[in-house]
Amino acid sequence: MAQILDGKTLSKEIEAELTERVKKITAKGHSPKLAIMIVGNDYASQTYVKMKMNASRRIGVEPIEFHFDETVTTEQILKTLKELNNDKNVVGIMLQHPIPKHIDERKIDDSILPSKDVDGLNSASFGAMALGLTAFAPATALSIMTILRRYKIQIEGKKAVVIGRSAILGKPVSLMLLNDNATVTICHSKTVNLPEIVSQADIVVAAVGKPKFVKAEWIKKGAVIIDAGYNEGNVGDVDLEHAAESSSAYTPVPGGVGPMTIAMLLEQTVIAAEKEFLNK
Ligand code: NAP
Repeated sequence: MAQILDGKTLSKEIEAELTERVKKITAKGHSPKLAIMIVGNDYASQTYVKMKMNASRRIGVEPIEFHFDETVTTEQILKTLKELNNDKNVVGIMLQHPIPKHIDERKIDDSILPSKDVDGLNSASFGAMALGLTAFAPATALSIMTILRRYKIQIEGKKAVVIGRSAILGKPVSLMLLNDNATVTICHSKTVNLPEIVSQADIVVAAVGKPKFVKAEWIKKGAVIIDAGYNEGNVGDVDLEHAAESSSAYTPVPGGVGPMTIAMLLEQTVIAAEKEFLNK
């Protein structure tokens, strides 16, 4: 019977741990805040922001939302960002993606102070993370690594195949697996013979954005499946209905990587707050 890597339960445990850590900060009279910037009215993005704000409140960190109109310019966002960078009580800042094409997303992510980059998307954080230094990591990639670590799935020496190479997910999780001594293959839309490559993996990470894209027959018996996909209708990127049974462990969709991603954003926010207020 395959083990379910239950991200929902794990995220609740982590929230409880974080709540205790935040209490130690507020007990000293500090009030850490998490700033979330969102542009436009994309329904899914607004839902994610609401979930992040609710979770932030639950652990005792006050969320502040900056909701910009679709027509906002990069400069206007940067002006707000500058104020947030200078506000001592704002310990974490994130920009909800996706954002409209006319906005210079890289410029904004790179203008977040690395010490407040709790979603781990600026180039400095990415570079440090890639080098294996202490740095904030992209929350979804960190979510995957935390699931593997907390469930004590062996990474060292294992063959990991990551499908997807986005800056927020596929690429960083590949580097993090490599830093933990896996032998990593990164696949993408130009990869030739994907099923054969996936069939050699001890750990498969699917980050494609296509519902049920990874088929059961590609999965080696006993492999660990991490399905980061989240598509319409609560469906992942792996055909879990059929693939789960030949795996040794898998993340369900929903209830796997998704809830843990928010927990990781919060964990990095608490780390930033501890550094700011407790000199940790
Ligand atoms: P993305 O930016 O669209 O990247 C998708 C990646 O998949 C790209 O690298 C692309 O290759 C690759 N790809 C596309 N078609 C392929 C094919 N036929 N064969 C092999 N590779 C292929 O997506 P993303 O932002 O990384 O997100 C991936 C998935 O994770 C989505 O389902 C998304 O909803 C989910 N997600 C979940 C969370 C969460 O918290 N649960 C957070 C973020 C994302 P190229 O680079 O060659 O184009």
